[in-house]
Amino acid sequence: MGERKPFMAANWKMNLSLDEAEDLLTKLTKATIDFKRVDLLVAPPFTILQLAREILAGTEILLAGQNMHWEKNGAYTGEISPLMLKEAGCSHVILGHSERRTLFFESNDIVNRKVDAALSEGLIPIICIGETLQEREENKTSDIIRIQLEESLKTSCQRRSLPNHVILAYEPVWAIGTGRTATPQQAQEVHSFIRLWIKNTFDHKTGQAIKILYGGSVRPDNSKELMSQPDIDGSLIGGASLSAESFLSIVRFYEA
Ligand code: PEP
Repeated sequence: MGERKPFMAANWKMNLSLDEAEDLLTKLTKATIDFKRVDLLVAPPFTILQLAREILAGTEILLAGQNMHWEKNGAYTGEISPLMLKEAGCSHVILGHSERRTLFFESNDIVNRKVDAALSEGLIPIICIGETLQEREENKTSDIIRIQLEESLKTSCQRRSLPNHVILAYEPVWAIGTGRTATPQQAQEVHSFIRLWIKNTFDHKTGQAIKILYGGSVRPDNSKELMSQPDIDGSLIGGASLSAESFLSIVRFYEA
């Protein structure tokens, strides 16, 4: 952590009705959170964005889409554009989540196009990367992470420039929604590898500035220890972000 302000993001995935979302968002707006110590973001399903925008208006809680297309508009049935997300009040967008990569066949190349589109339309991408269990067991973690970084950030690599508000999220696939969390040491090892790659590929300053979130079964009882690692700057939280109580207790890691 250190110089980088912690960033805690809720990924609701395909969950919650409008009523449930209203209840959860209202609880978040009423909670006492020290926004000097932490940034907070919620990524609801697209149909909840408008409601979320209304409830979160005037608060410091940020809003994100969970995915988007790279084009501005056109014949892309079922897709949503960067401009639409912006109009709905989003400042951020999650890209390349492992569920998108595995279930919807998103390649690194597609993620790269989406990163470019987000950046040129003024949305901050939260780019997810992570290895499968098999890849970890075969000792391929750093190779996989390096390839995902090189290819998902291909255009930025070619330009030798990466805006330092881009956010990366290390999410080991084997830890997402499984209850199996990377140990703080395992996560720190990969986060430090990612930061070194950014420093070597771009420059030291960018590497120091970029936030790297950890995601994968983050819970109230493991948040503090994960957040105490030097290169873990926040969390991307799935299941535990669906209840105000557990999400807030993760977010308030700094009080424990
Ligand atoms: C996620 O969806 O990004 C995630 C980390 O999920 P969970 O916290 O449920 O493992």
